[in-house]
Amino acid sequence: MTETVLLVGGGGREHAVARALADSDADLYACAGNKNPGIAALAEGFETLDTTNPKAVTTYAREVEATLAVVGPEAPLAAGVADALDDEGIYAFGPQEQEARIETDKAFQRRFMREHDIPGCPDFETFEDMEAACDYIDEYDGDLAVKPAGLTGGKGVRVIGDQCTAEEAKEYLRDSDYDRVVLEERLVGEEFTVQAFVADGDLRVTPAVQDHKRAYEGDEGPNTGGMGSYSDSTLELPFMTEEDYGDAVDVLKATVEALSGYKGVLYGQFMLTETGPRVVEFNARFGDPEAMNTLPVLNTDFLDVLTAARDDGSLPQLSFRPKATVCKYAVPDGYPTDPESGAKVTIDEDNAGEAILYYASVDQRADGIYTTTSRSYAVVGVADSITEAEEIAEDALERAGTEGLRVRHDIGKPDLVQQRIDHMDEIRG
Ligand code: AMP
Repeated sequence: MTETVLLVGGGGREHAVARALADSDADLYACAGNKNPGIAALAEGFETLDTTNPKAVTTYAREVEATLAVVGPEAPLAAGVADALDDEGIYAFGPQEQEARIETDKAFQRRFMREHDIPGCPDFETFEDMEAACDYIDEYDGDLAVKPAGLTGGKGVRVIGDQCTAEEAKEYLRDSDYDRVVLEERLVGEEFTVQAFVADGDLRVTPAVQDHKRAYEGDEGPNTGGMGSYSDSTLELPFMTEEDYGDAVDVLKATVEALSGYKGVLYGQFMLTETGPRVVEFNARFGDPEAMNTLPVLNTDFLDVLTAARDDGSLPQLSFRPKATVCKYAVPDGYPTDPESGAKVTIDEDNAGEAILYYASVDQRADGIYTTTSRSYAVVGVADSITEAEEIAEDALERAGTEGLRVRHDIGKPDLVQQRIDHMDEIRG
């Protein structure tokens, strides 16, 4: 039977999912708030709709007779889109609203870790009263990370001693309209991500990836949704050991064991510290950009993973090409604080050299492609080494064009990768 897959979401991550499905024998339909030209070109149908409206998504899913769905972003998961699709008998690869709380409610996430003794949880407290939170900052012996409990697109966190002072953090809390915040021990080290496919208590892990959250080169500026990322030809990254990777996998295993009925992707964000990997957060879906590092090197048919999750209650063993990847995003000028949206951009998609080009939050209109408030497009180099993959990505950016857009050119360059290694050596003594 040919599967008809509905893809929910219109970012770079979803374009990567669309490509992986296009390589499989699936009929693809997609819906998103923006018309992503790359996904639209691969899909048999593309509907522009509000993906946080479960009814709008299920109506379209029924219309195209979807047999499976993949929900990319967190907002539809938080809105119960997976629940609504499951209720229609359309298996959604993505957790239901309750299970997605592992991402959408950071206070729940930390309590869940504490309750189930999941390793790597930082010391934390949750607050509903912002003045009480400010007192805690004054009393705490050490630096804290201040995190709104709800979704902020990765942009709401303030780390004392890194991005701000204790006074600035208190001002931030007092000026905010947050109703709940988590204050937790500041973790110091190198960040990395491990993503796992999950179904029926079973999980399959993928290679570690390092994202770059800060807007500007040299890790300066505000946090973004992620400016780019790299992975190595092995499962781990150059600054970590096989044991570190194994410890992170153990955290994911313990988490999947403690979660019941979770399906979809579980994304673990870790800080590799002096004492090994600690958990920065969990996400309930693929990372964006990390999906663009992982899916191009996945040898296993992605559709087989989805149908096994739906039908067999177990997942196939995954195989990955032993290749390094470097992903770089081109973002609108001013992103993330004051992005220039609605600007017409020229992206020469067919001229990306050896790289893969993924469209992200751009909107295709009759007369061309326009920016939105989020990231515009990404290129991914795939090669034997990070250095070669980085050169392929840079070459692609030059060819495809970045006028009116901004790129962090330092991502994946030998200097920055070496800095990560040196940083970890310093921390570990
Ligand atoms: P999150 O939304 O939890 O991923 O946080 C966004 C970013 O804030 C992370 O990628 C980290 O760079 C930083 N961060 C979050 N929690 C901590 C922590 N406990 N210690 C240090 N940095 C953190």
